[in-house]
Amino acid sequence: MTTAAPAVEAGGLTKTYAGGVKALDGMGVTVAAGTVFGLLGPNGAGKSTTVKILTTLARPDAGTARVAGHDALRHPDRVRRAIGVVAQKSGADPVATGRENLLLQGRLHGMRGTALTARADELLARFDLAAAAKRQVRTYSGGMQRRLDVALGLMHRPQVLFLDEPTTGLDPEARTAMWQEISRLAGDEGLTILLTTHYLEEADRLAERIAIVDRGRVVTEGSPDELKGELRGDAVHVELRDAPDEVDARLLATALGEFAAVREVAVDGRRIAARADDGPAAVPHVLAVLEQQGATVASVTVARPSLDDVYLRYAGRRFADAEEAAGAKSAGGAA
Ligand code: ADP
Repeated sequence: MTTAAPAVEAGGLTKTYAGGVKALDGMGVTVAAGTVFGLLGPNGAGKSTTVKILTTLARPDAGTARVAGHDALRHPDRVRRAIGVVAQKSGADPVATGRENLLLQGRLHGMRGTALTARADELLARFDLAAAAKRQVRTYSGGMQRRLDVALGLMHRPQVLFLDEPTTGLDPEARTAMWQEISRLAGDEGLTILLTTHYLEEADRLAERIAIVDRGRVVTEGSPDELKGELRGDAVHVELRDAPDEVDARLLATALGEFAAVREVAVDGRRIAARADDGPAAVPHVLAVLEQQGATVASVTVARPSLDDVYLRYAGRRFADAEEAAGAKSAGGAA
């Protein structure tokens, strides 16, 4: 089998919640079997709604969804047998032990006997929970609970694993550990992973392909490098020692803009941002222009464009601004 069908194939999905919130507006996603795919977007973009539809927990108003070779709308039971789901909220029973949770999950999927216990113990070892296997889950740290959630999702050996915001709420150390776990899972034979995240860095590190989601649809898609590569050149950032007054700022922008290799110059107080086809080559010229204008430079950095730059280009706003707008709309939402 060389031409495997996509593990996930959905298109034209729309969904309006009671109250008139249009969560999905023509959402579509195709995930090749055996790959890690990231849905990246700010809070409220429609990622969870997409996952709920693909995992048969919600129905769209219109559109199609096939998962692991089955029609999610016509045969939800078949899809459910083929997938593992790690939702944002843990499904583990806090007063049961980690091992009890895994055994129960396996039984729900029809596993019995040594196949059941061996799988539970294998996952406990694999997720570094063997020592805590007989402790109640409520005594686990956030990172341990999250690892158990992933183990629960894998208990019945699914073909497709859905991870909805796998590291939200984890401290940086636990987040890094979870990233390592997910990277290791990605190497598992045949396992397809679809994860949602509002962390640019997370999508960049884990996903082979990323779809950027904004306002209920995909605005662009590609590998992290492809997306970044679309933004030609480097970002050049200069910090001045003293803030130029307004006239000076305009002069600086004009003088820099006259230099052909530098584009999109923006002066904001003491900070100057510009793009250059060849950042390192442009730096001496930028410094010379600034010196002519009497500006003293505190620092210069040259960086490759980030996914944040990609998001800005396609969604027309900064990722952080979109998050803030979503946060303001749903006060008390994700911190
Ligand atoms: P994301 O996962 O990207 O944060 P969601 O799919 O959770 O986005 O939400 C998309 C939009 O739908 C948001 O505006 C959200 O407030 C709204 N929404 C989500 N679930 C419901 C619901 N059960 N009822 C009403 N509105 C909802």
